[in-house]
Amino acid sequence: MSRRVVVVGNGMVGARLCDEVRRRDPDGRRVRLTVLGAEPRPAYNRVLLSTVLAGGLTPRAVELYPGGWAARRRIDLRLGVAAVKIDRSRRVVLADDGTEEPYDELVLATGSRAHVPAGPGFEHATAFRDLDDCAAILDRARPGTRFAVLGGGLLGCEAARGLAGRGTRVTLLHRGPHLMERQVDAGAGHVLAATLERLGVEVRTGVRALGWEPGAGLRLDGGELLDADALVVATGVRAETGLAHDAGIATDAGVLVDDRLATSDDRVHAVGDCAQHAGAVAGVVQPGWEQAAVLADLLTGTDPAARYRGTRTVTRLKARDVDLATVGDPALLDASSLRFSDPASGRYAALAFRDERVVAGAVLGLPDAAATVVQFFDGALPVAEGDRLALLLGRALPGAAETADPGRLPSSAVVCRCNTVTKGALITAWRAGATDPPALARATRATTGCGSCGDTVRGICSWLAQSDPIESDPPVLSAVREGAA
Ligand SMILES: Cc1cc2nc3c(=O)[nH]c(=O)nc-3n(C[C@H](O)[C@H](O)[C@H](O)COP(=O)(O)OP(=O)(O)OC[C@H]3O[C@@H](n4cnc5c(N)ncnc54)[C@H](O)[C@@H]3O)c2cc1C
Repeated sequence: MSRRVVVVGNGMVGARLCDEVRRRDPDGRRVRLTVLGAEPRPAYNRVLLSTVLAGGLTPRAVELYPGGWAARRRIDLRLGVAAVKIDRSRRVVLADDGTEEPYDELVLATGSRAHVPAGPGFEHATAFRDLDDCAAILDRARPGTRFAVLGGGLLGCEAARGLAGRGTRVTLLHRGPHLMERQVDAGAGHVLAATLERLGVEVRTGVRALGWEPGAGLRLDGGELLDADALVVATGVRAETGLAHDAGIATDAGVLVDDRLATSDDRVHAVGDCAQHAGAVAGVVQPGWEQAAVLADLLTGTDPAARYRGTRTVTRLKARDVDLATVGDPALLDASSLRFSDPASGRYAALAFRDERVVAGAVLGLPDAAATVVQFFDGALPVAEGDRLALLLGRALPGAAETADPGRLPSSAVVCRCNTVTKGALITAWRAGATDPPALARATRATTGCGSCGDTVRGICSWLAQSDPIESDPPVLSAVREGAA
């Protein structure tokens, strides 16, 4: 008998979980899947909303799966239907269309919602979380419109850059002492602000907004009224924990889960932005996708020993002409850290080491160095004291190759962070016949997350076409060579 699994949430992680389950159980013999999705549209790549806002992609282009995908995969997908209550004693989920969905296992993949600060008028501001928000912002984004973007974290910076690129007049306001203080140190924050200013964004830090006065502007601490026609709020997110909490399941900042992604009720699981694992709510997609793979192993019985042990996350800002990568906790950057700063050219790097390993860092405007640093952070590779400067310069070091040259990347290097795809996996897929970037994307999923690895994947593809001639020969020629050998 197949298990009835109900997934609540058809976002990036809920949809991915279904995909992972069907990769292991294509005919649905082991798992029957029902998905309740509050949004009225098929799953899309939320990470790419900043690119949609900046004009680099259409909303259609960010759909995660082709039309009819769910039906072909035997997934009962119910769009525009929200779960409103979990009745754990009867093991049913109640939906807002009046239906009840019985489950053997329930998965919460409810993501997070935008946090809107308290204050008069903020309820009329636009958040930046879904495609409807994106459409509402774009509706106002005509050249000359004055936008205030509240919140100088990753999303606020991306939104401000995208809007400035559309010819609007943008002021980015941040309450903290410098931009992105959760990810970068003060030095990187200041250079980032200068870079955004050069790109047409006015940046103001250390300011508090008290309220939004539609038609007038943004009221600031101290009484100033900032002229603005539209307000975008990007002041953080909160995990969507309401359903679990109301059902008596343990929650904190997220729904508490163990290494099996089980909540305090063994029949109920949580993955993605709504889950809190080992004290942390991730808020980025890579951990959620790794959790989905582990949970699919468990739900299908493919690997009953599968466990999620956490993810080493790397953050990248996705904005044209701003190249920022961060790793680890910025609190670890201190006076003993290695620093390079050239604000005039928008370049900055800070790296903290423990036991000869990179444990935290921010690299801005130095893409080669960023790639090398990420590689060393990922692999926990040792950097001898004398080699640290070379690391910042993006030069080849013992243990890793110069990353600007895809051919010299080690096989173990993670190329696509969102999907944890190594160069070795790309080579294997190439040799199995995926010999162009779209085919590599289909085979390995590389490039299908934030897309920032696109150049590297294309580089590896060209390198393979030149350096792997036997494998890329037409079959007849390969056979001739094998015969000759
Ligand atoms: C503009 C933007 C840029 C981002 N950039 C990056 C980035 O560069 N890198 C990165 O890693 N991450 C980024 N993120 C974060 C990333 O999008 C999230 O980590 C990811 O979407 C989490 O996936 P999820 O499925 O857990 O949640 P979501 O994608 O939010 O999906 C949750 C879904 O559940 C639905 N839902 C909620 N409650 C219910 C209910 N009761 N019943 C039915 N359905 C329900 C919601 O409507 C939603 O569709 C970005 C986010 C935004 C908004």
